[in-house]
Amino acid sequence: MSEGGVRNVILPSRYVQGAGVLGQLGGFVKQYGERPYVVSGRTSFSKVRARIQASLLSAGVPLIGYDDTISECTHAKISEVVSKAEELDADVIIGCGGGKAVDTAKAVAEKLHVPAITVPTQCATNADGMADAVVFSDDHKFVEDLWLSRAPVLVLVDTDVVARAPPQYIVQGMGDALAAAFEKPAFASSQRAKKASPLATNAALEVNLKCFSTLMVHGIQAKRDVEAGKITDSVEAVVEAIKLQSGFGFGGGGCAGAHAIHNGLTVVPGLARKHGEIVAFGTIVQMVLEKRPLGEIERVMRWCKSLGLPIRLSDLGNLDRSQLVKAAEKACDPNDSMAFMPFQVTPKMVLNAMAEADHLGESLYES
Ligand SMILES: [Zn+2]
Repeated sequence: MSEGGVRNVILPSRYVQGAGVLGQLGGFVKQYGERPYVVSGRTSFSKVRARIQASLLSAGVPLIGYDDTISECTHAKISEVVSKAEELDADVIIGCGGGKAVDTAKAVAEKLHVPAITVPTQCATNADGMADAVVFSDDHKFVEDLWLSRAPVLVLVDTDVVARAPPQYIVQGMGDALAAAFEKPAFASSQRAKKASPLATNAALEVNLKCFSTLMVHGIQAKRDVEAGKITDSVEAVVEAIKLQSGFGFGGGGCAGAHAIHNGLTVVPGLARKHGEIVAFGTIVQMVLEKRPLGEIERVMRWCKSLGLPIRLSDLGNLDRSQLVKAAEKACDPNDSMAFMPFQVTPKMVLNAMAEADHLGESLYES
């Protein structure tokens, strides 16, 4: 008997990572088009603009234009960039920067029916390889997750660029990648039980395990090395875990409890952490919900603590705790990814699990 359902994973066509690979950009771009257009944030682009332009020029595919004003991925911004790039007859879009810039670039490429290439400038996100764009309003309210028909044709990660970004970025990226190892298996067993599509591929589940072990083995060292300005094997391993491996977790569907708890916490006044940091705490709460062995939960918590990722509610900011009930309710919204947990999760369960995680966190700080 087959388990029913359709296995699905969406991945970038090519992934290139290493110190100095930005110099190879032109050669790759040439395989996909002749009229490249860059979509970027201002600070990101200022750091890599000279190298990007030089590489494109030497490959005979000079940059025909750019928009380096992306500070938020909004529908209005996507339409504006589409018009500009279309006017210049752009045939390949290069997204350069963090999540917002690359998400805008991918959405623009989709609308223009041309390939997208992503060149991340930091490691806080794995958006570079994903086939979606998270759209926000101008005042940073979530609008929708735009599902795209394909992932970028190339993700070019120059470690010399991403490892020189402020160290908190790679820590945030590790927090987000940590979730994949717990959310994808939860998602997989929930989908199997419902006989629903998409099912997780075994390949994705295996890669997620590898992602998790890489983070555990190399994560703390990688942070130290980045702080010391060194690009080491640990840094390369962690960058791959964040940029490539964690994408196997979320590509084709795969969020579950950790991201739902993140989404819930965003309604609490006083929250002062970034996406990946909040997701790390959400992962711990998911582990508590799953009733995982205490030793396993504490191992992850110790790792988070060493990296400066939150393990207590007080680590998340000066939270208005009277609003945690609202957060728990939002986390259990039927349209959110809590629906992909393999068992029914109620707001009361989330509230209790957050309190238990907080208690465990406090005890790790006392010991
Ligand atoms: Zn995330």
